[in-house]
Amino acid sequence: MKIVSFVLILFTTLGQTQTKPEAALMGFAAKSSTHQRELEQKFKAMISPEREREFHRYFTSEPHPAGTEPNHNVAQYIADQWKQQGLEDVVIRQYDVLSSLPKEVSLEMVSPIQYKAGLREAGYDVDPDTKNSAVRSGWLSMSANADVTAPIVYAHSGNPEDYDMLRKNGIDVHGKVVLVRYSNPYSYRGFKALTAQNEGAAAILIYSDPAEDGYKKGKVFPDGPWGPETHIQRGAITYDFIVPGDPLTPGWASVPGAKQIPVSEARSVPHIAAMALSWHDAQPLLQNMGGPKAPKNWGGGLPITYRLGGEGRVHVKVDMDTRVMPYYVVEARIRGAKHPEQTVVLGNHHDAWEYGGVDPSSGTASMMELTHALGTMLKDGVRPDRTLIFCSWDGEEVGLTGSTEWGEQFEDDLKKNAVAYINVDSSTAGSEFDGSAIASLAPFLRETSMSFTDPASNLSLYDAWKKTIASKRHEENDKSMVADASPVNVRIGSGSDHTVFLNHDGVPVIGLQFDGPYGVYHSMYDDFYWMNHFGDPGYRYHSLMSRLWGTTALRLANADILPFDFASYARSLREFVNEVQKKPGAKDNVDLKPLLTRVAEFESAGSELDRSVAACLTTGKADSATLDELNRGILEVERNWLNPDGIPGRPWFKHSLYAARYTYAHLELPGLTEAVEKADWATAKTQARILEDATGRNAALVKDLVTMIAAGSQKQ
Ligand SMILES: [Zn+2]
Repeated sequence: MKIVSFVLILFTTLGQTQTKPEAALMGFAAKSSTHQRELEQKFKAMISPEREREFHRYFTSEPHPAGTEPNHNVAQYIADQWKQQGLEDVVIRQYDVLSSLPKEVSLEMVSPIQYKAGLREAGYDVDPDTKNSAVRSGWLSMSANADVTAPIVYAHSGNPEDYDMLRKNGIDVHGKVVLVRYSNPYSYRGFKALTAQNEGAAAILIYSDPAEDGYKKGKVFPDGPWGPETHIQRGAITYDFIVPGDPLTPGWASVPGAKQIPVSEARSVPHIAAMALSWHDAQPLLQNMGGPKAPKNWGGGLPITYRLGGEGRVHVKVDMDTRVMPYYVVEARIRGAKHPEQTVVLGNHHDAWEYGGVDPSSGTASMMELTHALGTMLKDGVRPDRTLIFCSWDGEEVGLTGSTEWGEQFEDDLKKNAVAYINVDSSTAGSEFDGSAIASLAPFLRETSMSFTDPASNLSLYDAWKKTIASKRHEENDKSMVADASPVNVRIGSGSDHTVFLNHDGVPVIGLQFDGPYGVYHSMYDDFYWMNHFGDPGYRYHSLMSRLWGTTALRLANADILPFDFASYARSLREFVNEVQKKPGAKDNVDLKPLLTRVAEFESAGSELDRSVAACLTTGKADSATLDELNRGILEVERNWLNPDGIPGRPWFKHSLYAARYTYAHLELPGLTEAVEKADWATAKTQARILEDATGRNAALVKDLVTMIAAGSQKQ
């Protein structure tokens, strides 16, 4: 039930009615599109930046890593708030998962100098939160235990090619401690740990070089947004690129009492000790490790000569409290009025390394303000057509843990009924919009962004977004992509809670974020002060996120016909196939023409469906039974990409178009791409056939939907 007449009067009074008729929204008939826009106006008007700030202050008031009491309190607070806001079916779900918190972490250089690393971040008077004794030292979750004294070697970014370079210089890291830096180019710290483990290193130290996120970038905290001398990027090193979630329940939910495998069999548990360092603690090691000069491009932003090491020795001690602990996922709903079984899921995690000012508390604040508005509307009798599910995940930072367990627990229902999952991890670190979606939802996200105004530039969010992307591509000298008309990122890697939905359950995903200069990621300085001075003073972008996120969800929940564009999906798919074809050896060893033929069929069926849907929405001729069947069919497309066997070597990853590399980077057509990159042509051929079959299934399905619409329209 919608209170449309009331809204109309309200907005006429305020002089905000549209002066010219607007085109119908994707998936909406003209009349329902008008209703939807009115509903959105009402929703958007309820979002308050002041309340965003209050929520943000609450979430950033104490450090709350997964598995700790303060984080349990946060979960309880969210549940209480959701009940007060009027949300339905509020429940806290407990998962008993392998977790890891620090008992003792210490590091000293023992020769040629004595240096005891502080492993602490300095406090500043202007920001009392930085003086809270509850803040932990530098540590990396899921680190193995170690107590070792060994030579120290500098291995640049810690990627495989860096160890090749060391070998060329006669340096073997076996049994030694490797020191690597974050980023440059970016790779997930867990990949650095696995690489060091495979090289036989005794421990890995990962530090933040000022070239990446410190003074070389600009002013540092508390005078600017970049990381100061002692900032430490905490994090997990879990091998969740192999299988995410609780390491002891790979593929099934760790509900209390669930079967668990022994830790020794868990593929995502690292066997190497790891520690995070500030450059304050890394510099004395770099200056005193000796050895030959490092290659020029290995040098960072410190005013020292970077060397390869091997002469200085360090003592590393890591003692972790690693055991099964409860994590708490909070869940709530607004039940749909027309199709309560169909669901749109909105999620954000609440666990943070310390305060989590940006990551994730900005997202959590945006979510609480969004639910406040929707809860208020519900009290007024406004219910979406489909059910909205809100999830506040736990342990995202450890191994995408809470979302993975939930996505495994409700796998069957999600595969049957989920329309999409919309993830917001960090909502705001600045004003630069970054939106991603699977390729069939890209046109929808693009259209949605046109309904918003960017507060800084006063451009439409869509135009501001395009400008940001153009300048980023310019910076990166990426000429190839500047011509791309759509700014939507359709290449989706891992590193956040969307992973289980897309890669395991075949649920379409969208990701939303505002980015900016942000050098305090996972450090204590990612806090309330940082947000109010640099990230989003005034909480305008937090508010914009609440509006955008809610609007995106409401459109998916209320659309007459779900706004997927399969012709767009096919075009991206063709791009992915063409990229594989360009890889060395591919053309001569695996025939991708049959796959491209299927892609062309899928594209033409998709274009036909777009036309039929447009006609159907304009004439309003389809009956509700036809629409129901059509929407069910549309949801099947994404599930059709799932291969029950998963991708070779990583059976948990079922999606045949999307996965992530070990670095978390996006990886399209994962089974095929990885086989081609390994020149494993037999596997490549099998994987190409799997893709042909899935694409063929979807071309046939979409054709059937076109036929069905035609039959349904004739019935009337
Ligand atoms: Zn996060």
